[in-house]
Amino acid sequence: MTMKSDGLVDFNEAVQNPGKKLNFPVHTELESEEDIDLLEPISGELNGVSTGNILLISGKFKTKLVTECARCGEPIELEFEFSMSDEFDVEGVPSCYGSDGYAEVVQDEPQPIFKKNALILDSYVRQGLLINMPTQLLCSGSWEIPCPNQSESHTEALNAKGHPAMMQLEKFRSQDKA
Ligand SMILES: [Zn+2]
Repeated sequence: MTMKSDGLVDFNEAVQNPGKKLNFPVHTELESEEDIDLLEPISGELNGVSTGNILLISGKFKTKLVTECARCGEPIELEFEFSMSDEFDVEGVPSCYGSDGYAEVVQDEPQPIFKKNALILDSYVRQGLLINMPTQLLCSGSWEIPCPNQSESHTEALNAKGHPAMMQLEKFRSQDKA
């Protein structure tokens, strides 16, 4: 099974047939996302199964993106994986219990995640990405180690100060301090 091109992942079959597990490979570039700079599309898989009253959705994804160093603001390329697991209420009688039955996921989110029983992939994955995205990343990898770009520009600023003798003096001063 593959995803429809409209960005919806249809879990209706799971909703109408409690116990039936559905699995979809998914792939999205989150095109409407302005704040996140993806280098590679988000890819992974989505699983869904209904208990009758609850639709359980889980997924595993990976992507590569650009974020900023928390200290110097230099871009950092980052590959990472994240998992999601969520429950959605279902109301109505699943159609497997009667020919006139139809169960549907309850919409109670401020931003819709479902369109009838189809998951709006970007809405859902965006939430998971934002929650799981690492924060406070440093290009040097540690608060103990200065950012390479920062120390370079610091040195350049010192070098630009002028007279070589003054620079020598500056060098001795900083050695004294250390
Ligand atoms: Zn940095």
